[in-house]
Amino acid sequence: MNILRSVADMKAFSRERRAAGATIGLVPTMGYLHEGHLGLVRGCRANADVTVVSVFVNPAQFGPKEDLRSYPRDLRRDVEVLEREGVDVVFTPPEDEVYPPGYRTFVEVHGLQDRLCGTSRPGHFRGVCTVVLKLFNIVRPDVAFFGWKDAQQLIILRKMVRDLDMDVRVEGLPLIRDVDGLALSSRNSYLSAEERRAALVLSKGLREAEAMAGAGEKSAKAVIAKVIDTIGKEPLARIDYVEIVSLGDLAPLERIEGEALIVLAVFIGKTRLIDNIRISGKG
Ligand code: AMP
Repeated sequence: MNILRSVADMKAFSRERRAAGATIGLVPTMGYLHEGHLGLVRGCRANADVTVVSVFVNPAQFGPKEDLRSYPRDLRRDVEVLEREGVDVVFTPPEDEVYPPGYRTFVEVHGLQDRLCGTSRPGHFRGVCTVVLKLFNIVRPDVAFFGWKDAQQLIILRKMVRDLDMDVRVEGLPLIRDVDGLALSSRNSYLSAEERRAALVLSKGLREAEAMAGAGEKSAKAVIAKVIDTIGKEPLARIDYVEIVSLGDLAPLERIEGEALIVLAVFIGKTRLIDNIRISGKG
């Protein structure tokens, strides 16, 4: 496995493999890897000749009061895990190569970036889009893998790729949960034992929503009220948002007909967690 730390080395590697006829797959991550990430890595290996995993904690997607400094990092362990997975390249550039002094260019996907997580994290998706566009330009992948865990991110990136005529296929893979239902996230490492238990209320609320919709409840308001009620019973939880939106463009839905996404963000203590589940209203 190659560990490439410079943009120039990464570009040269991709150029060479591409010239030899290989397809290149990219899995962008911020490291501190878990099974959710590894699902993407396995998907990538099955679909591309060369698998590149980037490990880069992107400062541009963190707000000034957010957890950039404390974000969990363990590159040595990440490298070991990725080596075992048979990854070809770990790309881990230094911050000042991605954003050298005087950096000025950012990508925005208007409208989609300002809702849901964008409301409480202004500038977050601008940072995500910018770094992903840069990674695409550096690695030049044929295909890139993202998790439905970050549903809004995936939908925004698909829109960016379409709007900017980029030649990369964006694949979304299912959200991976721990055995007890908690959506895997690097940020789960912030949770105390008590908070970890309290955090189960997110998936519990979502499962109830799924059951209601499955039983024929068509009113988004009614389903959302139930989720808010369930989460509200957990003293350590503070809701940021609970919404039911369309899968294609995150538009808020009043009626659950066909497939929809129930998305939520909840603070457990100081840790902000997101989760979502696909629901479908029966005929
Ligand atoms: P992150 O390192 O948190 O930026 O995540 C990197 C990629 O892994 C993103 O595409 C995430 O959506 C994806 N990811 C993170 N957690 C999960 C999960 N539990 N299930 C599936 N994908 C995930």
